Amino acid sequence: MQELKNIKGTHDILPTGIAKWQKIEKVLQKVFTAFCYKEIRTPVFENTALFARGVGEFSDIVSKEMYTFNDKGGESLTLRPELTAPVARSYIQHHFWQDAPVHKLWYLGPLFRQERPQAGRQRQFHQYGVEVIGSSLPEADAEVIALAYSIYRELGLKNFALHINSIGSTDTRKNYTDLLQKTLEAQRQDLCDTCKQRFDVNILRLFDCKNPGCAQIMKNHAPSILDHLSREDAEHFTRVRELLDAMMIPYEVNPALVRGLDYYTRTTFEIKGTALGAQDALCGGGRYDNLLRELDGPDTPAVGFAAGMERLILAMEAEGLFAEDEEGMDLYLAPMDSRALDTAMPLAQSLREAGYSVYVDLLGRSVKAMLREANRKKARHTAVIGEDEIKNRRLQLKSMFNNSVSTLPFEALADALINEK
Ligand code: AMP
Repeated sequence: MQELKNIKGTHDILPTGIAKWQKIEKVLQKVFTAFCYKEIRTPVFENTALFARGVGEFSDIVSKEMYTFNDKGGESLTLRPELTAPVARSYIQHHFWQDAPVHKLWYLGPLFRQERPQAGRQRQFHQYGVEVIGSSLPEADAEVIALAYSIYRELGLKNFALHINSIGSTDTRKNYTDLLQKTLEAQRQDLCDTCKQRFDVNILRLFDCKNPGCAQIMKNHAPSILDHLSREDAEHFTRVRELLDAMMIPYEVNPALVRGLDYYTRTTFEIKGTALGAQDALCGGGRYDNLLRELDGPDTPAVGFAAGMERLILAMEAEGLFAEDEEGMDLYLAPMDSRALDTAMPLAQSLREAGYSVYVDLLGRSVKAMLREANRKKARHTAVIGEDEIKNRRLQLKSMFNNSVSTLPFEALADALINEK
């Protein structure tokens, strides 16, 4: 019989690893709340057409990486490979603009892409991100970048770098891609096969090619988009930079940062983990003023980013940012038999209602085994409950910090725990 296992490129997040996720999620909540962004949750699958139209048919995501299937009604559905198009779909469907001219949204959830799994690249992975819909101002770009940056700072990460660029508005981009095709025509035959294919459909992607030959050609021959921005695009970009300077957010201007997706306009940015390997992009985003219109919505500008959770965990592990003792519990109750459980369970219940974390050993095993387990689970206090404790309604509370023992009536337990919390 076939062994039942998780699908290649997916991972169980086990109870032993969950504290890392929860630590990050807590910081995310804190930073999103500080910036006054509101959470949005959309379904994990959508009509395939949403991504084909929203992300672009020639993008790697749509052309190669989507999990697409027909449901029993014959409708083509896709497990979401990104969240900007679903959020835009929701914004349009629910007429968000009728409540307020600007919406500041955040999300966190699993995404699915059929990529070649490797360190930092899964087939099911998780992203958090934000979308600010309704503002064309450079201040919105700067706020979104500041938010992305604040999360890494708040988490204590040190090895990361912010890269920013502008790819201009639609006309600038069209003029620039024409210029790029003309300039690089002479080098076309020296490019790798993938770049040769991209030359006509999405020449900006040539900047992303990891092939050293292609990278050299781009370095030596490609004109910088920043020399070809329209006046309005250049002013927009200058303002974004001024605001980042004013907020003391360090960045590097990187004219080769064009991002893979078709919908970007003007500002693009990426945060790279400087201690990560080949998959070093922690976060990517930018402005996408045409997406909502392309999805038959209002002509509304927007800016956002998406950031990977798994890569963030790798980066934080590399910097030793997960403390060992984050788990544990206030009290480990060790009842000696089932009669002791009759006493331990209501006692635990009342302490939990008072705000303490209490673990009750349910196995009725030896005191030695229970206390060994309490140690392993990093309990801050332990108490054994046996016949005497039941009879006298008193117990011996042992502190695992300093091994001190105090004999206390049950009613005094909550106060005793608070002293060493
Ligand atoms: P993208 O949506 O491709 O711009 O990716 C945004 C971020 O999501 C990246 O910077 C990564 O941190 C993360 N990411 C993208 N694809 C994957 C993947 N296959 N596995 C893990 N993380 C990913």
